Amino acid sequence: MTWLTDVHIHLSDDVYFDDIPNILVSMERMKIRACCVSMDFQTCQKTLDLSKKSKLVLPFLGIHPGKASENIEPVSELIIRHYKEISGIGEIGLDNTYTGAIDSLRRQEMVFNTLLALAEKLKKPVSIHSRRSLDKILSILSSYKIRGILLHWFDGSKKQLRDAMDMGCYASFGPVMVYAKDKQVLLSKTDPDKILVETDGPVKFSRCFELKNAQISFIPSVVFCASKVLSKTYDELSIELEQNCKQYLGI
Ligand SMILES: [Zn+2]
Repeated sequence: MTWLTDVHIHLSDDVYFDDIPNILVSMERMKIRACCVSMDFQTCQKTLDLSKKSKLVLPFLGIHPGKASENIEPVSELIIRHYKEISGIGEIGLDNTYTGAIDSLRRQEMVFNTLLALAEKLKKPVSIHSRRSLDKILSILSSYKIRGILLHWFDGSKKQLRDAMDMGCYASFGPVMVYAKDKQVLLSKTDPDKILVETDGPVKFSRCFELKNAQISFIPSVVFCASKVLSKTYDELSIELEQNCKQYLGI
């Protein structure tokens, strides 16, 4: 059986706290690993703690654009101190829906650039939040040499997807793709070797997911639906996703 990877989930979120022992056991049983991203210094520490509990937790440390007002030094220091243990840097990025103020956007860009520079220096992959900021993000990324760039929850246009593919970025699709036709179209236009899957838990998804906090156990449904969209079998796609994930993580 092939291992699957949820490439973007926030297991450090309080929502999961009481259930972590069960989640870690079920990951082993379902053969699903998870790239666990962080939002700020506090969740970076929690992510590191989780990664000590299970080798299936692949820790990503970073500052989310919604937390860009936080002091960046403690997170940078943590990344440098633990660079051998961490799998990547994230969640990082830009998002002008959190604030329209010029000063705050500049701050987001400064934090984003600082953490990209660190990813380049430490040769780590990145997990990027790019809501309503894809063009800006792609232009910033063009000045860095980072081998594994994931545009998580890809939600751009077909043109932006093409630009991202031309730059060698990965795009991940999650539970929304199961019921949203436009995401299925984007998936079908993504280069096959750049497709990854995620849940972005604890985000809640509607329709068949009944507004439950996303769980790692949603991943097989995402893979199943993606395999139908791509006219592949579940097993064929699982093997391809595994290869893509290894390339993305550089392992
Ligand atoms: Zn996220």
